[in-house]
Amino acid sequence: MKVAVFSTKNYDRQFLEAANSPAQLSTENTPAQEYLHELVFFEPRLSRDTAILAAGFPAVCVFVHDQVDAPTLEILASQGTRLVVLRCAGFNNVDLQAAADLGITVVRVPAYSPYGVAEHAVGLILSLNRKIHRAYNRVREANFSLEGLLGFNLNGRTVGIIGTGKIGLILGQIMKGFGCQILAYDVYRNSELEALGGKYVELPELFANSDIISLHCPLTPETHHLINAETIKQMKSKVMLINTSRGALIDTQAVIEGLKSRQIGSLGVDVYEQESDLFFEDLSGEIIQDDVFQRLTTFPNVLITGHQAFFTEEALHNIAETTFANISDVEQGRPCPNEIRAQPKVEAKAIVG
Ligand code: NAD
Repeated sequence: MKVAVFSTKNYDRQFLEAANSPAQLSTENTPAQEYLHELVFFEPRLSRDTAILAAGFPAVCVFVHDQVDAPTLEILASQGTRLVVLRCAGFNNVDLQAAADLGITVVRVPAYSPYGVAEHAVGLILSLNRKIHRAYNRVREANFSLEGLLGFNLNGRTVGIIGTGKIGLILGQIMKGFGCQILAYDVYRNSELEALGGKYVELPELFANSDIISLHCPLTPETHHLINAETIKQMKSKVMLINTSRGALIDTQAVIEGLKSRQIGSLGVDVYEQESDLFFEDLSGEIIQDDVFQRLTTFPNVLITGHQAFFTEEALHNIAETTFANISDVEQGRPCPNEIRAQPKVEAKAIVG
């Protein structure tokens, strides 16, 4: 199939081209030829302004910051596109109802890096707790003072995990290894997490009892600004808040107030609500216009990474392989297990029974 690949970076091209080559993919069950697609790489993001680039392409391949909204889908459909291939798990940037109405199939890569993301969340927790980001700079300046670097033992602390799917479960397993208690909230229970000793509770109980809160639920209308002024008030004083999921789960202004009042003890984020104006680009030397983001960067107890939690060799390999398997399924009329469709709304309350 002829595929227009948007938001291409060098690493995308490297892994997609490798997986698209017959030598790489020939296995007993999947003949190599099945995966040979015609890829055309575009650096810009997909939007209504750039959709023209996909004219004549039956498939477009996109990532987290591409705008796959109704107007963009209408342009794509009018130009002959019938398939949107996400090289990511989250699909909050896609208007699934509009795609269905236009007869466009949407597929995704549901699990390409659950270990990578969970491990990155642990990296943020360890760095923030033991102030490794500050110690790194101090030692390079020959400042060996320990003032301000005091941490706490993770052993015996309580970690609250919101969203206990693939990534949340792995985080639970890792933190259990540190000797932490696990509290959990989800609209569905995960029996594997319960088998670990994780205890499902309602959100107020999780907020009130967690020393560390880590977000692993998708961004939906129900979870938008789940962390806000009201919920921050319910949290333990000096709570550590970690978000490797989607930026808009957090009301950033409310979190800044929480940091200023010291209700929030530390914040580690790999995602940010307005990240599409910043992340994945080298903006060194530019004047950053986002004052909220700039304020966040001034706190010593805030650690921000630029949506890199997924970014491991294994993830890029899995993304490429699953992407081509998805395209082949749709091209050859097979049911694709990774197709996503507009869903009826799920109520944001825990099913604890
Ligand atoms: P998953 O689908 O396996 O798990 C998500 C869990 O959230 C499910 O158990 C689901 O029931 C739960 N959930 C849904 N609505 C909820 C609600 N209202 N309240 C509480 N829980 C709710 O997904 P996953 O693979 O674990 O990924 C989790 C999120 O991580 C994705 O949605 C994506 O936004 C994010 N992600 C980030 C990166 C990164 O690089 N930072 C990479 C991959 C995924």
